[in-house]
Amino acid sequence: MNARNVRVRFAPSPTGLLHVGNARTALYNWLFARRAGGSYILRIEDTDLERSEERYEDRLIEDLRWLGLDWDEGPDEPGAPASGEFGPYRQSHRQSIYAEHTERLLAEGKAYRCFCTAEELEAERNLASAEHRPHVYSGRCRHLGAAEIERNLAAGQHFAVRLKIADHPLRFHDLVRGVVEFPPEAVSDPILVRSATGASAGFPVYNYSVVIDDALMQISHVIRGDDHIANTPRQVAIYEAFGWPLPEFAHLSTILGADRERLSKRHGATSVSTFREMGYLPEALVNYLALLGWGAEDGRTEIFTLDELTSAFSLERVTPSPAIFDFDKLNWLNRHYLKLAAPPGLAELAWGYLAYHLPPRESAPEALRSWFDRLLAFFVPHVDRLDQLPAKLAFVFGFDPEASRLVDENSAVLSADSSRTVLAEFADRVRAHAGPVRPDDFKRWMNEVKAATGAKGAELFHPVRIALTGAPSGPEFDKLLPLIEDGAALGLGIPSVSERVERFVGV
Ligand code: GLU
Repeated sequence: MNARNVRVRFAPSPTGLLHVGNARTALYNWLFARRAGGSYILRIEDTDLERSEERYEDRLIEDLRWLGLDWDEGPDEPGAPASGEFGPYRQSHRQSIYAEHTERLLAEGKAYRCFCTAEELEAERNLASAEHRPHVYSGRCRHLGAAEIERNLAAGQHFAVRLKIADHPLRFHDLVRGVVEFPPEAVSDPILVRSATGASAGFPVYNYSVVIDDALMQISHVIRGDDHIANTPRQVAIYEAFGWPLPEFAHLSTILGADRERLSKRHGATSVSTFREMGYLPEALVNYLALLGWGAEDGRTEIFTLDELTSAFSLERVTPSPAIFDFDKLNWLNRHYLKLAAPPGLAELAWGYLAYHLPPRESAPEALRSWFDRLLAFFVPHVDRLDQLPAKLAFVFGFDPEASRLVDENSAVLSADSSRTVLAEFADRVRAHAGPVRPDDFKRWMNEVKAATGAKGAELFHPVRIALTGAPSGPEFDKLLPLIEDGAALGLGIPSVSERVERFVGV
């Protein structure tokens, strides 16, 4: 195939938030198109009217943009004309196209009207299950005469449209799995257009509309999740009925949790918007999703920007075995990208997570902004994601001596006699001091307290650290003290070192 003709699509149904599995499908399609210099198409499959919602479509578009996966053709903002010459790109706007194609199949005798009622089909299904065999449609309406069809139509009977399945195996080529073949009975005569009354009455089924859209949009490669493998033989039969060439297929393996069950909310976050809210960066998520089922040629490199992925990605290196979602690895990548993130952008993002303690960023004075930048530079390397910042920084913004005394680890330290004498000596020095406490003051005092009490190491430092930060371990005092003291001067209610000591020792 000529590279210029590579046309792929991401075809989500707006029935929920964008799942990471679908986001990976979107990414692999995007990478494949960009690498080949082809086109990437976004098609909204909103034919399930009961479950499709506009708000999900909006979220989906927002999530794709956030990930950086722009499309060449697809539905544009509501009201604006669709971009691309193969539109409309929303299935709900393509009903007349499906109807024309149904007329064609009926006229050519490749499809037929099925007047079987829901009750009749139910009885067929019950019989099959009583006989322990899979249900295959009996084909009762396949051979109705023209007169009977006319009578039924004149009587206003509901009908579905079914495809006449030819009696030969249904075969397709899959770039991940090789040749895949299904026997014709795996399919029976599938319904193309539903008959049921209700919102979906007369609507084409997914397998049917997807084939018409893929063919008319000249999709060259159908890259999607392997939950669609079982649908593919039906789709192959529909391509055959129309006499259209098959595209190449690539079915991507399922994503599992660490327990090898399908990834679900039980395992943690599963939707792109939740990862975003948790403070994962799009670079990290994209990089991680790329590795879920694909690996670099050297078998080692794991850190890739979107640009690097574009030149490295190939479907040949996509594995058919299930991918295990590894939150630790995602966290590792996120820490990597957090460290690389440009300070102004990162500060703006992180500000939102601490909005409870801060005035709006737009109106924040310069002193507060630059203090916040220093705070981030110091603490961001210690979090996996930005939503962990509020807990990490709780002691900076507020300080609760009663609560920190109740923590088991702290009370064990504080109950030692040496801790009482260390804190008393330390407090004396803080009280005798005027103005902010600088690291040099602190160092001098600790040497004096050491000499006065004979305490050293953990015995000396842990009680002081608990008094100032609520925990026996944490960041170096040299950097921490200026952050606390400069923060206290900002008028946000951040307690200074001497206020902390006063309140702690006073409890
Ligand atoms: N709309 C389908 C889904 O969201 C995708 C169809 C396809 O990729 O063929 O699962």
